[in-house]
Amino acid sequence: MPQGLIVKALSGYYYVLPEGVPLLEGNTVTCRGRGVFKNRNITPLVGDRVVYEATENGEGTVTEILPRSSELIRPPIANVNVVVLVFSVTEPILNTQLLDKFLVHIENTGIDVLLCFTKSDLLTVSDDDPTHAKEMTSAEFERITKLYEGIGYPFVTTSSRLEEGVEAILQHLDGKVSVFAGQSGVGKSSLLNKMISGLDLETNAISQRLGRGKHTTRHVELLPLANGGLVADTPGFSQLDFMEVEAEGLSSCFREFAAVAEGCRFRGCLHLHEPDCKVRDGVAEGTIAASRYDHYLLFLTEIKERKRRY
Ligand code: GDP
Ligand code: ZN
Repeated sequence: MPQGLIVKALSGYYYVLPEGVPLLEGNTVTCRGRGVFKNRNITPLVGDRVVYEATENGEGTVTEILPRSSELIRPPIANVNVVVLVFSVTEPILNTQLLDKFLVHIENTGIDVLLCFTKSDLLTVSDDDPTHAKEMTSAEFERITKLYEGIGYPFVTTSSRLEEGVEAILQHLDGKVSVFAGQSGVGKSSLLNKMISGLDLETNAISQRLGRGKHTTRHVELLPLANGGLVADTPGFSQLDFMEVEAEGLSSCFREFAAVAEGCRFRGCLHLHEPDCKVRDGVAEGTIAASRYDHYLLFLTEIKERKRRY
């Protein structure tokens, strides 16, 4: 039986792209899902590789869902390879605490991350102007990118206004299934519009915040990228609540902690006050950034408080 990839789900229909066929208008087979799948109680998701059966009317029935490598809940997509984590350098200002929080969530899914810093046209040069506290200077921005690059996160810097960095991001996503994530207003839609010819997502942060925006009623769909690869047209991770992260698992979501934690004296060291802690050693020696450690402590407290409440 033929296999394919679900590229869109809408009103009970799954649009399946047959294996080896390019994602172009009219190439998908419209399928219904079978009530019960061989592999238990799961329903098909966009991104699922499936086995389907052609029916007489030119449509089809999805009969089997092949094993998933990953599964996101928001947006509901299977087999995503890369989350493009989008932060604007300013408007809203780049907040590394929020950045680290997003990173924890993505690390927890096991999916790769590409950092994308948008609105580079708004970077300022001067470092000593107190009236522009909300601005991001080039020097400060460089310090931040160095930090994350040093931890092992690749990054791209883009400006949709100047049409910069679009080619670089397309190269990173070649051959991958990707999804964009990040706060509202950072420029995700503007960037997707630049990356995909013919795409015209609404770009207005205000209407989104009021809940009237584009993402409230949209279906989820994978769109083809010019260099190859597929990208979800719906951004993910709007809410971050640490529901799925345990205190003991938090430090493994900080890559540079995980790299040295083996050497801590105690197994399950939370890197708080335990003796012979390699993570705290790293902070003291400057090989681990103090900001990362501070955010770790903050998230640990949040997780513990959440536990107490539920
Ligand atoms: P989203 O909510 O993340 O999808 O963000 P949007 O793409 O809707 O953009 C939010 C606002 O930022 C809009 O007013 C855009 O015009 C603006 N914006 C997006 N990209 C850029 C950029 O590269 N430079 C500047 N200066 N503004 C941008
Ligand atoms: Zn430790």
